[in-house]
Amino acid sequence: MAKPVLLTVDDDREVLRAIERDLRRKYGSDYRVLRAGSGPEALEIVRELKIRNNSITLFLIDQRMPGMSGVDFLAQAIELFPDAKRVLLTAYADTDAAIAAINEAGINHYLLKPWDPPEENLYPVLDELLEDWNAAFPPQFEGIRVLGNRWSPASHNIKDFLARNHVPYQWLDIESADSEVRSLVELLDEEETRNLPVVILPNGVRLKQPTLADLAEHAGLRTRATEAFYDLAIVGGGPAGLAAAVYGASEGLRTVMIEREAPGGQAGMSSRIENYLGFPSGLTGADLARRAVVQARRFGVEIISAEATEVRVDGPYRSLKLANGAELSCHALLVATGVQWRKLDAPGVERLTGAGIYYGAAMTEAMSTKDEDVYVVGGANSAGQAAMHFSRYARRVVMLVRGSSLASTMSQYLINQLKATPNIHIEYNTSVVEAHGDEHLEAITIHCATTKEVNKVPANSLFIMIGAAPNTDWLANIVERDELGFIYSGPQLTRDGRRPNGWKLDREPGLLETNVPGIFVVGDVRHGSVKRVASGVGEGSVAISFVHQYLSKVV
Ligand SMILES: Cc1cc2nc3c(=O)[nH]c(=O)nc-3n(C[C@H](O)[C@H](O)[C@H](O)COP(=O)(O)OP(=O)(O)OC[C@H]3O[C@@H](n4cnc5c(N)ncnc54)[C@H](O)[C@@H]3O)c2cc1C
Repeated sequence: MAKPVLLTVDDDREVLRAIERDLRRKYGSDYRVLRAGSGPEALEIVRELKIRNNSITLFLIDQRMPGMSGVDFLAQAIELFPDAKRVLLTAYADTDAAIAAINEAGINHYLLKPWDPPEENLYPVLDELLEDWNAAFPPQFEGIRVLGNRWSPASHNIKDFLARNHVPYQWLDIESADSEVRSLVELLDEEETRNLPVVILPNGVRLKQPTLADLAEHAGLRTRATEAFYDLAIVGGGPAGLAAAVYGASEGLRTVMIEREAPGGQAGMSSRIENYLGFPSGLTGADLARRAVVQARRFGVEIISAEATEVRVDGPYRSLKLANGAELSCHALLVATGVQWRKLDAPGVERLTGAGIYYGAAMTEAMSTKDEDVYVVGGANSAGQAAMHFSRYARRVVMLVRGSSLASTMSQYLINQLKATPNIHIEYNTSVVEAHGDEHLEAITIHCATTKEVNKVPANSLFIMIGAAPNTDWLANIVERDELGFIYSGPQLTRDGRRPNGWKLDREPGLLETNVPGIFVVGDVRHGSVKRVASGVGEGSVAISFVHQYLSKVV
């Protein structure tokens, strides 16, 4: 954690050096001592510290300086650091002016020059002020800060990406009345104000509307492989990919896992998984993902934040191209890319996505729904979990379910929980047919299939969970897929006793193997898979024994 700052300003170089020396000697181990030779120079330092979210504990300022007096400097500096303690250094002749200025700049103390010996004339005063400051102010947040507008899709994507990658960040809504946020907004230049969100890194670097790839790089995530070749490359870091990574690396395979959003996949977005073996009181998807990532890293898995966009098969080698231009090769490739949310096709929905309309439970938005009505579209477990989660924040959660009951689409334990939660209301036979709003969602139109009624209701938050589809077009010319894009494997590829086209080996495709030897598929993206965390984990783990069998023949 960066130490809080003691800033001293004096135009007399010798005095400045002497006071800096005395401050460092006594306080150097707990504070950063900075100095400036004039008011304007000191204001530059103050602005930079504000941008970096560092704390200033104390200003120790000479009163009589050419250009800008100590009091004039303080009047501007305390707008940015209103809680910093203020001590004015004055010569004998200035004491009246200093006393008069006490009210003007809220000075805590004035000291007469020279202050020797400091043990008697300087330290006792400062000790007391520093003690007061430390008792009253918790340490400043020091991670990444995101400054933007709640309704901006770009702000939502950045918050979601950081949260799901477990990168701590602080969200600052520019519309908030918080004085800290207001003073930070004033420090942005015109271009930054026009290009929100701005991400402020702990070292003060500011990124205007960064892409997720840029953000990944600056947030310290690995975006390129360290080696050109691996025994096993896994695309997709959901439960299936993570399980394969843990088993692969723990059994000695040089393993790389490529994930374009955040490890955890769909499961990472679940607010509470209650049916995963060994966790009787459930656990959040974020916890499951975090634990799995720690475990994978412990076994030496390399995790890369990037999107795989192309596969090439070159004899026994399989090569992957990533969206950031990087490439890597492997002996065995495991596809664990899961599924993505199906889009709701209704006027206004696409335009307002990220500005009040979200796919999935979008847990980063939960706090913002405090005291509002929240609408959740969908009738499966994911929608039920989301409704339970939002019910803790929102005034009322309305579930819009297309069917006439939840019995065939949702686990009974969740149905019981929904029914027992007073601020959750379920409307059956309903669907959203239009979304309204200029800058952000303001209302939705709901159609009821039984009464044929159409109602427009005010709404600021709509969470859509209406099933999911695989995203495997980038593999279209390589592996065999069904009409929806799910990938065939093992016995599904042998039709009428015939092996898949182009299959040259003297054996059938292995259980989780695709029509290309050495390319395996696990989890939700596999044709015929059971779409559960445990089954994804099971398939990912089991696939490693097939990878070993394959490698024993090619390596
Ligand atoms: C909100 C919610 C709640 C759920 N609750 C439960 C529950 O309580 N119990 C239960 O058993 N199941 C639950 N499920 C289902 C369960 O989460 C899924 O079955 C499981 O996550 C599937 O795992 P997977 O690894 O196959 O795929 P996914 O979890 O979909 O992970 C696939 C990963 O691949 C990445 N990816 C995709 N394409 C690429 C590419 N080209 N390059 C790089 N990366 C890529 C994606 O970003 C994603 O992270 C829930 C699902 C959701 C959405």
